[in-house]
Amino acid sequence: MEVKVQKKTKLRPVAVPPGVEPEDLVNTPVIQEAARVLREGGLVAFPTETVYGLGATGLDSEAVAGVFAAKGRPADNPLILHIAAVEDLQQIVPEVPPLARTLAQSFWPGPLTIVLPKGPVVPAITTGGLNTVAVRMPDHPVALALLAAAGVPVAAPSANISGRPSPTEAAHVMADLQGKVDIILDGGSTSVGVESTVVDCTGPVPVILRPGGVSREALEEVVGRVELDPHVQGGEEIHGPVRSPGMKYRHYAPEAPAVLIRGEPPELFRRLTALANELEAQGETIGLMVSRELLGYWREHGVDGSRWQVAVMGSRTNPSEIAANIYRCLRELDETDVTQIILEGISARGVGLAVMNRLQKAAANRIIDV
Ligand code: AMP
Ligand code: MG
Repeated sequence: MEVKVQKKTKLRPVAVPPGVEPEDLVNTPVIQEAARVLREGGLVAFPTETVYGLGATGLDSEAVAGVFAAKGRPADNPLILHIAAVEDLQQIVPEVPPLARTLAQSFWPGPLTIVLPKGPVVPAITTGGLNTVAVRMPDHPVALALLAAAGVPVAAPSANISGRPSPTEAAHVMADLQGKVDIILDGGSTSVGVESTVVDCTGPVPVILRPGGVSREALEEVVGRVELDPHVQGGEEIHGPVRSPGMKYRHYAPEAPAVLIRGEPPELFRRLTALANELEAQGETIGLMVSRELLGYWREHGVDGSRWQVAVMGSRTNPSEIAANIYRCLRELDETDVTQIILEGISARGVGLAVMNRLQKAAANRIIDV
């Protein structure tokens, strides 16, 4: 095996005051430096509104190979190309069908990735050997400034070691990729917190290959019926071809084994608490990822959860808040000595579908329905 020289990773803070525009950042020394590194074939981690991305020039096979190597990512798991403007899509695909155009115009910049037949400029390594390519325009001033300054589409998967929870803070990127990337741009915590929704637009009806920051309901308001690939549901073994290679990998997983418990309060809270007690009696050290409402239930019922590591995801009534916190909570529990994690499930409506997809994967499909 080739011996890789450790890189000296530079952590560069970028101030992102409210209302700052990409144009305000594009000529700053830090963005110009990062863009230069990209153009020269280097690796730059940068914030987007979803999670931090690990970027390389997406049309240069060698640079893209560096992304796969740094993450330890399987070669057949394709990358998403990030662009600075809706019009840049034309440089990547031979044809933009009306459906894709409508979606791009409605949701870009934003957490929606569009899959289309690829043009010849896109190297096979970027698409994991597929004849389709995934493209999105992110909604983050640092990402857009970097993309504009680089002047090329940037291939950027999440900036974590393959299989680990995605990074929502620069410190998470440092923890996984220090010594493997050239620059990490620190733009604070990401706002959406889960990855983009990946939509296959190669057929007449759009198909969600991965739920994410844009809900199925929001898509349907704009384009009518949207299908959900059966692999997205999870929970049970599904046969048939995997249409999005990322689906077949264990993902977003904490170090300790996790179990996901689904249902409605108060029964959900009663059973979750009973499960924690039961596993503890078996000698496990318990970590919990729960809603604020569960803490209310404990207070009401005199449950003392102080011996457990508790990470609060947010309110069950606010799936966007929970989405913004799940990866940080998983990483927090990783830093403790817990041996068993229990994840509280929420409703799979709206962004809750993306949350539940990630929690199911984090639990490697160990699910209890109550
Ligand atoms: P990540 O960048 O780590 O969020 O992963 C990108 C994900 O997008 C992959 O794991 C795939 O599920 C999906 N994806 C990217 N390109 C394609 C494509 N051409 N066809 C289907 N799915 C894709
Ligand atoms: Mg990823």
